Amino acid sequence: MPDSWTNYHSHSHYCDGVESPREQVEAALRQSVRAFGFSSHGPVHFPNAWSMQADRLEEYLSETRALQAEFADQIDLYVGLEVDFLPGFSGPSTYASRLDFTVGSVHYLGLNEQGEPWEIDGSTEKFMKGLVEVHGGDIRKVIHLYYEHIRQMIETDAPDILGHLDKIKIHNLRNSLYDENEPWYQAEIDETLTLLAQTDCVLEVNTRGLYKKNLATYPGLSVLQRVQERKIPVMINSDSHAPSEITAKLSRTALLLKQAGFKTLRVLVAGTWQDVPFDEEGLYL
Ligand SMILES: [Zn+2]
Ligand SMILES: [Zn+2]
Repeated sequence: MPDSWTNYHSHSHYCDGVESPREQVEAALRQSVRAFGFSSHGPVHFPNAWSMQADRLEEYLSETRALQAEFADQIDLYVGLEVDFLPGFSGPSTYASRLDFTVGSVHYLGLNEQGEPWEIDGSTEKFMKGLVEVHGGDIRKVIHLYYEHIRQMIETDAPDILGHLDKIKIHNLRNSLYDENEPWYQAEIDETLTLLAQTDCVLEVNTRGLYKKNLATYPGLSVLQRVQERKIPVMINSDSHAPSEITAKLSRTALLLKQAGFKTLRVLVAGTWQDVPFDEEGLYL
């Protein structure tokens, strides 16, 4: 019987999460987590509400490295960052040499009318403003731009873990903007997965949409079926922003992946990336 989980996407008070890295570790131990990655939002070159401040990076690294050593006989801890891909400014390789792993994510697409980076991961109100003001309401163009950013990251600066692939769908509740089944949308996904399959990058199945928005995993089931056909390695991450969320919906998502035909998850354990069998009770580590 397995009784262990892994999670490599987590936030603490160093960015927009709550509680300290130590509290994360203690909660992870209580939740039967055998391997855990710290992945605060890495610093960006403009002010924003949720990334780590650049002057806290050293403290973050030394604190998490110290925990890694202190808890070495109880849990596998890994020091990482969720890094924004901002072409021309920063990407996973900006910080990779100091980390055990990187989560690479696209949260911004170009600039808005005020010259500020346009956030696609914030409120739908702000998203719609950018969509209308900068792109004339052309959602296909914006979806193309989003997946183009992800493809550019995969091709030029691939992270170890690709973060929340289709998260832009948070603005498409009840298919108000587009239908994911339309051929043009499927083509964007296919083109992205084709590139991903040529790398060592692991696709995360991010559960935050399930427990925060009662929506779906990122990516959702229809994309996952195509991921499975292409034999792209996946892992399940919660993108926790509080210690209580570390294993949120991991079990339900494991069941979903089993039903979709996945046999193993790719995880970092004992310092090695490996494919491990799993079921809804956990991983067979
Ligand atoms: Zn993110
Ligand atoms: Zn995150």
